[in-house]
Order: sequence, then structure tokens, then C-alpha cells
Amino acid sequence: MNVNSHSISLAISALLTVAAGTVAYFFNGHSMPVTVKTAALTLILSYLVSWGVLELMLFRGIRKLLVPADNNDGNSPDQKLGFKNIKEALISYVDLKQLEIDQLKKMATYRQEFLADISHELKTPIFAAQGYVHTLLDGAIEDPQVKMRFLKKAAKSLDGLDILVQDLLTLSRLETGQIKMDVQSFSIYELALEVFEQLEDKSRRKNVKLGFGSGVYKDVMVNADYHRIFQVLRNLVLNGINYTDEDGRVVIDFVPTRDQVTIHIKDNGRGIPPEHLDRIFQRFYRVEKSRTKTTNRGGTGLGLAIVKHILEQHGSQIRVKSTLDKGSDFYFDLPKAE
Ligand code: ADP
Repeated sequence: MNVNSHSISLAISALLTVAAGTVAYFFNGHSMPVTVKTAALTLILSYLVSWGVLELMLFRGIRKLLVPADNNDGNSPDQKLGFKNIKEALISYVDLKQLEIDQLKKMATYRQEFLADISHELKTPIFAAQGYVHTLLDGAIEDPQVKMRFLKKAAKSLDGLDILVQDLLTLSRLETGQIKMDVQSFSIYELALEVFEQLEDKSRRKNVKLGFGSGVYKDVMVNADYHRIFQVLRNLVLNGINYTDEDGRVVIDFVPTRDQVTIHIKDNGRGIPPEHLDRIFQRFYRVEKSRTKTTNRGGTGLGLAIVKHILEQHGSQIRVKSTLDKGSDFYFDLPKAE
């Protein structure tokens, strides 16, 4: 049944007209002209008043809720304002508002957590550097050996702070879409070689071997942002080195299909417990909280979050398979170039 301000006003004014007419008829000595005048006046006035009130206070609002649905089929909202439509419009309006409230709550929680995480992460290197500098000022500076040692430690903490701030900036620029991917075609093998070269010292110090798997086709070309994919491979290989005990190995392997190539970064390190696998891509998430502080080994806890965002901007996705104490395999796809 369709209802609108006209039909309801008509119903109300009809009822009032009958009532007013009856009263006028009995209180004015059964005079027909007075009864008719009263009824007519009541009809017009009550119709106008109830139409005005209903239209301004109720139907305009309801019609606004119905507009998006009605505009699609070209019908005027007024024609379709039935009880069913009103009910549906109100339900979907309430659902929409609830969704908005849920999203706002989620964002507020995210902001609070983010602030707490950042404060915590910044605190570690700042406190460390502060401690060394104050100890020097309190007299340790007189001893040349202690002076050098403490200055080096303070510098290391500040370097860690610098890396953390850089990573935070990169992540926030990726999240807000400020970093655009500069897609070009290049050899993924050459890029992987460069990553190995850059991390050679680090891997040698830990006695972790870097190499390629059996599926490496040196001529595989991909379409992607060279510098960002370099960052992805560097972060993944670095993690492979960091989370693999001495004498381990990190291997890059390619599995080309018709249109794309899957790039694997495998290590035979400590692996990741299954219950953590979903969360390691969240910023600042660490499997072993105490062992991996920023100052200890240079990790910011943002590496995998950055990897995830860069690959998402390429329309790809980072995935992982891992077995505790056996190793991990991080992998993702990139489109092949001609
Ligand atoms: P971090 O700076 O702590 O390395 P990441 O975002 O790169 O931060 O990694 C998040 C966490 O995931 C690490 O703290 C570690 O617990 C776990 N992780 C990442 N890569 C590996 C890996 N190859 N082997 C085992 N654990 C890993």
C-alpha cells in the first residue's frame, strides 16, 4: 500500500470533517448551511495543516532516504512511498549508520593502537641513547675507552631511530597512496643479484649462504616498480638472514607461468609458529617480542607491513608457508613482461 503526505492528510481531514460536521449539526439546531460551512472549513484547514506537518516533519526526510533507490528506475520517490518501502528504507538507513559507526570505532582503535605502538618503539632507542649520553656527562667521558664505547652505542641507537622513522614515513606514504608505482620491465634475476650483493657482508658475518634455486631463468623479465620490488626482496632476504641461525641458507627461486612469475624467498631458519602467520604482516608485530628489539638487531617491525603494501600496490599479495624449526617460504607473483 502506498502512503504519502496527501493520502494521510486526506484521511485525517476526512475524519475531522465528519467529527466537526456532526458537532456543528447537533449544536446549531440541525442547520444544514452551518454544518456544510463548518465541514468545508475543517476539511480545508485540517488538510493543509496535516499536510504541512507531515510533509515538513516526516516525508521529506523519508523521501531523502529513498532517493538513491528510486532514482535508479526513474520513478519519483513520492509514487513509491509505501509502508514496505518506508520500512526497508529505514532498515537500510540504520544498517548504513551502524556500519559507519563500526568503521569509526575501528579507526579510533587503530589510531590509539598505532600511537601506543609508535611511542613504545621510539622509546627504546631514545632511552638507550639518552642513557649513554648522560653517563658520559656524569663523568664517563674522562675515560677515553669508555667514552668511545658509549658514543658508538649512542650512535647505534640513533641510527636505529633513523631507520624506524624512515620506515614509518614509507609506510604512511604507502598507506595514504602518496607513493605511486613506477612500472617498468626489468630482469628479476638481475635485481635479486643486486639484493644479494648488498646483503653479502651481513650474510657472511652470520655465515648464512645466499643463492638461487633450481627454477631460476635468468632471462625472466617482469613489469613492476624496480626500486620498490628491490625493497621487497631486500626485506625478505634480510629477514631470512636475521631469523636463520648460523650456517643457514637463504634461496631465491622463480616459478614462471604463462603470464606471471612467482618469486620465492626461502630459508631454513627458525620458522614461524602457525598461530602467528596471519599477524606477522601487521606493523610492529613480532613473533618473539623480547629478542628483536630495535636496538638489538636493527629490525623495525615494519618490514613485512611495507612488503605487503608495496605488493598490494602492484595488485599482488605476499604469502607465506612456514614450518617451525625448519624454515619459511615467502612468495608473491609479478606479471611477466614480453
Ligand atoms: P622485524 O623488523 O621484526 O623483522 P618484520 O615485519 O620484517 O619485522 O617481521 C615481523 C616478524 O615476523 C619478525 O619479528 C619475526 O618474528 C617474523 N619473521 C619475519 N620473517 C621471518 C623469517 N624469515 N623467519 C622467521 N620469522 C620471521
